[in-house]
Amino acid sequence: MLTTVKGIVVSETPFKESSKILNIYTKEFGIIGVMSKGCKNMKSPLRIVSQRFSYAEFIIYYNENKISTLKEGTIINNFNIIKTDLLLISYFTYITDLVTQVVKQNDSKNIYDLYINTILKINDGLNPKVMTNILEIKLLDYLGCPINLKSCCKCGGVKNIVTIDPDEGGYICADCYTNEIIYDSKVQKMLQMYYMIDISTISELKIKDYIIEDINKFLNQYYDRYTGVYIHSKKFLENNIDL
Ligand SMILES: [Zn+2]
Repeated sequence: MLTTVKGIVVSETPFKESSKILNIYTKEFGIIGVMSKGCKNMKSPLRIVSQRFSYAEFIIYYNENKISTLKEGTIINNFNIIKTDLLLISYFTYITDLVTQVVKQNDSKNIYDLYINTILKINDGLNPKVMTNILEIKLLDYLGCPINLKSCCKCGGVKNIVTIDPDEGGYICADCYTNEIIYDSKVQKMLQMYYMIDISTISELKIKDYIIEDINKFLNQYYDRYTGVYIHSKKFLENNIDL
């Protein structure tokens, strides 16, 4: 079946001398394997769209459950801002690796929109750490382990919430508090905002540095504790965070 899909090349594998097998993340079909014949030749019209992170409209011969074949491709967005910044490339890599893992566990088409919109906003110049954290908190729903931001994790009460705890999984009330780190109410509120906001509508971010750092720390610990997802490229991101 000849069909047109939009998507991002999330990984590529060399095939024979001049070809590649691409894994393209599409909204319609999820992640599909696509043979790009001859794309390593300098003159190939498929060359540009057959690279990791190419965001393009692809015309393919679609083969369900088998390798599809690429016929043509047109770049939608070059991500020029991201591709000239090593730190932003690291975020792009981590986000792509994370989404690839989530898609293995959940085939919701919403994940595609969350992913593309996050990348587009980072390319628009919005804070990559905030955008990544917003995506991470939203993906928890699709991983089946959302943060409890409704009531105390220990007693279920809704009054006198004093902090959020990544190990307990959400809110802690004054009665149940033992020795958890106190994340102040602004951090708690912003975490709610991250969860609620529609990524495509974000045009600017005005968030205090300590709130950004606290939420990032909280989410790192929460991911380690609850998701079972380990992303190698996250280490690279953490090590290069001060570039
Ligand atoms: Zn409680």
